[in-house]
Amino acid sequence: MMPWLNPHEYVISASEVLRAAKQVHPSVYVFDARRPSLCQDLLELSAKVEKAAPNSMNHYGTVLHDPGARPKTKRGEPQSTLTWWLRKMVRVFVQPIATAHYKDFKALQTPYAFTVEYSSKQRALAPHIDAPSAVTLNVCLGGDFDGGALVFSGRRCKRHELDPVRDEEIYEVPQKIGQAIVHLGHHQHRARQITRGTRTNLILWCSAKRRSRKHPSWCDARVTP
Ligand SMILES: [Zn+2]
Repeated sequence: MMPWLNPHEYVISASEVLRAAKQVHPSVYVFDARRPSLCQDLLELSAKVEKAAPNSMNHYGTVLHDPGARPKTKRGEPQSTLTWWLRKMVRVFVQPIATAHYKDFKALQTPYAFTVEYSSKQRALAPHIDAPSAVTLNVCLGGDFDGGALVFSGRRCKRHELDPVRDEEIYEVPQKIGQAIVHLGHHQHRARQITRGTRTNLILWCSAKRRSRKHPSWCDARVTP
């Protein structure tokens, strides 16, 4: 086990996570993920991985784990350690929230995990959904920055993606180092412009099967399903 990955430092029960996670907007949960040096460990971990565009919209960052591809790591870091850690993050931090609040989904799977970097090279991100993700975890790992808030703008299932967004659905979460945000993959969101400095966030896209083929209860489209 690498010294920067001591599993005993990250013991937290499901009920502690649920107590810590505050709902700030429908199906958006926020909690402090600094336990005790989680963000620093994750930054060190991502520094050992080759830089790569993590998805079609983010041009700067790293892919930490892709369940559908062969992993690439530098300096002989065992990929199994990385995968172990990411699975543990899902199990410890995300699954309790999903079990309690996103009852539409079965157990979360090993995530597609990546970091994104915002700086003068890429300042913002346009509105989008995390299409492959049932539940997304977004942790602000570090940096020295201003701006870049995450702005939510409506929950829509695949069938109702084009249903217009209403004013009351718009909600902004400022970025703070150590803050974790959990939301539905189909909750549309964007990143506001970073106005100074650089910021790194960890993103986990957790896929999961739905329990039912019925129209999901979280979809807020006004059209008749
Ligand atoms: Zn719908």
